[in-house]
Amino acid sequence: MDNNQQKKNQPPNDEKRPKGIWFALIATVAVILIVSSLFSAIKGSQFKNTTYSDFLAAMKADNLAEVEFQYDRVLYLTKEAAALPPSQQKACTTGLPAGDVMRLAEELDTMGVTVNQVVTEDNSMIIMILYYVIMFALLFVFMRSIAKRFSGDGAMGGIGGNKAKVYMEKQTGVTFRDVAGQDEAKESLQEIIDFLHNPKKYTEIGAKLPKGALLVGSPGTGKTLLAKAVAGEADVPFFSISGSDFVEMFVGVGASRVRSLFQQAAKVAPCIVFIDEIDAVGRSRDTKFGSNTEQEQTLNQLLGEIDGFDSSKGIVCLAATNRPEILDKALLRPGRFDRRIIVDRPNLQGRLDTLKVHTRKIRLSEDVDLKKIAQATAGAVGADLANLVNEAALRAVRKGRKAVTQEDLLVSFETVIAGTEKKNTVLTDTEKRLVAYHEVGHALIAALEKDAQPVSKITIVPHTSGALGYTMQMPEEEKYLQTAQELMTELRTLVGGRAAEQIVFGVQTTGAANDIQRATSLARNMVTLYGMSDALGLMAPASVGHEYLEGQAYLECSQETSALVDKEVGRLLGKCYEEAKAVLTANRALLDEISQYLLLKETITGDELMAYIHADKASNTDAPSAETEDFAEE
Ligand code: ADP
Ligand code: ZN
Repeated sequence: MDNNQQKKNQPPNDEKRPKGIWFALIATVAVILIVSSLFSAIKGSQFKNTTYSDFLAAMKADNLAEVEFQYDRVLYLTKEAAALPPSQQKACTTGLPAGDVMRLAEELDTMGVTVNQVVTEDNSMIIMILYYVIMFALLFVFMRSIAKRFSGDGAMGGIGGNKAKVYMEKQTGVTFRDVAGQDEAKESLQEIIDFLHNPKKYTEIGAKLPKGALLVGSPGTGKTLLAKAVAGEADVPFFSISGSDFVEMFVGVGASRVRSLFQQAAKVAPCIVFIDEIDAVGRSRDTKFGSNTEQEQTLNQLLGEIDGFDSSKGIVCLAATNRPEILDKALLRPGRFDRRIIVDRPNLQGRLDTLKVHTRKIRLSEDVDLKKIAQATAGAVGADLANLVNEAALRAVRKGRKAVTQEDLLVSFETVIAGTEKKNTVLTDTEKRLVAYHEVGHALIAALEKDAQPVSKITIVPHTSGALGYTMQMPEEEKYLQTAQELMTELRTLVGGRAAEQIVFGVQTTGAANDIQRATSLARNMVTLYGMSDALGLMAPASVGHEYLEGQAYLECSQETSALVDKEVGRLLGKCYEEAKAVLTANRALLDEISQYLLLKETITGDELMAYIHADKASNTDAPSAETEDFAEE
């Protein structure tokens, strides 16, 4: 989710507030009771309690030094007590029958006893009340702030309370226009929007509406954005919470959060409840790793809430995950998240549209060609592209320009994909020569083979990603299918770097590690997934793990087959390596020439490369994707 763009309103948390108030109220009363009883205990101990007749007796005996009347009692100091040093003087106190005050005061006056004060009844009452009210108010405010801290986002974390970051947006302000591509997902969500607009239309017919839909796709593909757009299109409030917020140390907390989330939602229905990363709570319960009571409780509560709410009220629960395969089956049952909406990585058109959406508010200079950027960013998701555009805008500002240029976009593409240019990696001349030959090795194979994707750039400027140089290839058009020939070309291109090192310097360096890894995994896929090996034939001994996390495939086969797979992979790689060496040896002059030029210029474009090749002999080019990174430092 892009937390920065949205303004997050705390939900109308009517549930929590009364709890806090009650706590503060009780605490205040308790404190007042304790304090006042302590106070009166202290006060009481200052005086000696006597009876009224004791007082009258002392008065008759003219044994009074000082008298103070207070509304319903009298304080008096006997002459013996008054004779003591002040620190040891102890006054006596006793109740005072109403009505006696005036008479006594007069009498004492004539006796010449000092009468300190006659406090009238009303006055003392008001002062008392005022005193308590002020005390109460002060304490209450104080206790409230403490109560808030405990149930809010204080360090204690509201145990049992509802601290989960539920965000409600009255209006998301996001519409489908802000979501580029994803047409199929939008279409599936359209019905939900229609339903939220007009629930009656559906309930009148008696149609049961989906309670929830699961948005499935890689991170950054726009699942959150789509959910918000649904709320925006339907003009209903949007509640969002992340599954990981439910998962707490304390058993039962997650469940209570789920409950309160749905309670809040019910109050403002129709609305959208969006649960991001639902796999954090919805992980299958029958895992081998033992059960997790807290997670189980939370999940049960969630299932209960989903079953419980009345969909005709217009609550639609959307959830997002990139690991649908680990979700508990119970979540996917009819009446729950029974709809699965795939949010794919964008294709060429999708990327172009995403770039257009994100450059809507950005001033672009004339030379900007978004199509080229879209072509270069195969595999990038919406979040990457949003990031790229923002980086480019920042770069333009840094350079003091008024508009974003194509160069800004290209440079920030490299920043996002390959890390920022690393100027402080100093290579020795020999290393530089090695890197140059290695890169040209890749580029030359790609340029000379007809099934390869055209080379768009070769560089030996080190990047922070650890690549000491890289060759970037750009497909001319989006490809959904790749032929075995193209994959073989890709393999030869990948091992071309190592082949060049071997031919020219007779050495092998660690710089080819990344190439070799990629070549191996490609060859392995060809053998185990695509059925492209003669030895195994049409058999796929591997299964793909997490489809949406580019998960590794794992083998499901006998040991013999597994050994055969390894042998085939080795054979494929060896074959491609020999072929690559043959191509480069045959074009040795070209290899030297271009490498020298690259050493001189450090970065050359695909056009410059092709100019050399055309000058040398009329060759042709074509096709696979992605840059070929080299010399990873590790
Ligand atoms: P997810 O929830 O799938 O991880 P998000 O919805 O949080 O991804 O996407 C992150 C950001 O990427 C969005 O806020 C948006 O700026 C951008 N983005 C992703 N997909 C798209 C898209 N299809 N169109 C426009 N912007 C997109
Ligand atoms: Zn390489």
